[in-house]
Amino acid sequence: MSYLSKKSETEFKILNVLEEEDLGLTISEIAERIGVNRNTTAKYLESMAERDLIYKIEKGPTSKLFYPIRVHKKFSDRADYMVKFYQLLHEALFFNWMKNVKKAKEIGYEMAKEATKIYKKQFERVDMTFENITRLAALAVEITYPTPNVQAKVYLTDDKNSFFLEIKNCICDGKVKYRSICEIQIGLLKGIIDEFIKPESVQVEEVECRCDGYNSCKYKITREIK
Ligand SMILES: [Zn+2]
Repeated sequence: MSYLSKKSETEFKILNVLEEEDLGLTISEIAERIGVNRNTTAKYLESMAERDLIYKIEKGPTSKLFYPIRVHKKFSDRADYMVKFYQLLHEALFFNWMKNVKKAKEIGYEMAKEATKIYKKQFERVDMTFENITRLAALAVEITYPTPNVQAKVYLTDDKNSFFLEIKNCICDGKVKYRSICEIQIGLLKGIIDEFIKPESVQVEEVECRCDGYNSCKYKITREIK
């Protein structure tokens, strides 16, 4: 085996080991996991840090920690961080600071005016009627929901003027402190649909929520008859 392939093989092993750790690893820990002696491992790590393949943090004069560079992270792992961040934002804003989870609904409704532009672009070739919204709603949620693994489904009812929209894997995570995430969704759904079908409008209510122990969050959307 040539030096070059041995080198890249070791570097690949180091990257993999770091990928599995979010808390950083020391030289000895990495050496043990890749089965290479400490001195050689240290040389690899220094060289990789110099080439910006990994992060090096000096913990003290004799101790160093190594971390993976985020660009190498899998998209799904990055999405997990994003969700956590979004949940904490909601908790800080609506649960702790405003102490008013319902306020999120109004904010969602205001946001809808801007958010509608995204959908207008996506669906500009579709005639926007209440019937078409029924068919588009699940797709529209999946396009803009902040995680890739969300699954949205539409359930029609006997009543032509209403339908149910179910969101599986909602990032409220069934935790009351994140409930404002679903409230924002109520405001967004109403605001966006109203914008598309005006002068008509809809009523939106969340009839089932993971925060109340259901398996998914479910919204009922009803056309307002004037
Ligand atoms: Zn919910």
